[in-house]
Amino acid sequence: MVSRLELYKSCVKILTEHNIDDAEFDAMCIFQQAFGEKIPLSKPNETADSSHINNVHNAVERRCNGEPLQYVLGEWDFWKYTFKVGGGVLIPRPDTETLIQNVLDICEKNALSSPKILDLCSGSGCIAVTLDKEIPQSAVYAVEKFGAAFEYLKENIKLNDSDVTAVMADVLLPENAVKFKDFDIIVSNPPYLTQKDMTELQTEVRKEPSSALYGGTDGLDYYEKMTPIWRDSLKTGGFLCYEFGMGQENAVGKILLENGFENLSFARDGGGIIRTVTAEKSEEYHG
Ligand code: GLN
Repeated sequence: MVSRLELYKSCVKILTEHNIDDAEFDAMCIFQQAFGEKIPLSKPNETADSSHINNVHNAVERRCNGEPLQYVLGEWDFWKYTFKVGGGVLIPRPDTETLIQNVLDICEKNALSSPKILDLCSGSGCIAVTLDKEIPQSAVYAVEKFGAAFEYLKENIKLNDSDVTAVMADVLLPENAVKFKDFDIIVSNPPYLTQKDMTELQTEVRKEPSSALYGGTDGLDYYEKMTPIWRDSLKTGGFLCYEFGMGQENAVGKILLENGFENLSFARDGGGIIRTVTAEKSEEYHG
């Protein structure tokens, strides 16, 4: 017979012994899920039954083997919504909420109440689904190349009762872009880690798909290739919004200026790092 509190303490101990940084947080998330309760330790002396114990032990073992907490739980929150995640899909990160705020600000400032929005490299769909929910009159399209991520994208659209249109396609092929026309906003969090970054990944991040992380030697491949390919899918005066990595703002800004964008505006994430840029497709550009 083991009480909930005893089980919790033993989990924290095991996680700590395996060098998990925030063992108490992880143990609590695992408990919340295993018991299906917000505050499972509100009944500390209640006996944990064997199915709860099994679930908790399985989750702790996976976490100790270096799986990200988010994969172990199978879902993670982003903005006000919950997204299913697991092997083959990038975990939604709080940094990316900056991009959501940028798009909401653009819509408000420009009185876009029913914008047509395109999300490239959509992954879990956290950007596309959140925008679709936050801007009810919008028409949102999400493009994702990889099968495993695409399955999560479709599942997350359903889970959140959203009507995003999911399209499986490679964003680096120009022939895929020609089918998309007259968008008000294109948004993307493409892979942007550099070759050096990839050698320094945390154990957990190594479990995420490198296809969603690696952006070429200098991390800029996707900005260089996607910008000219997708520019023509935007209306004149439409907006392109990118997330990028720390220190990439000048290089990404230069790519946008060279491709007929103007009025660049950069924003910092919650950690104070310059993380996103929004830019307007210039009227004069006839590239
Ligand atoms: N923000 C992710 C990280 O730092 C990278 C995601 C991406 O490349 N778009 O791990």
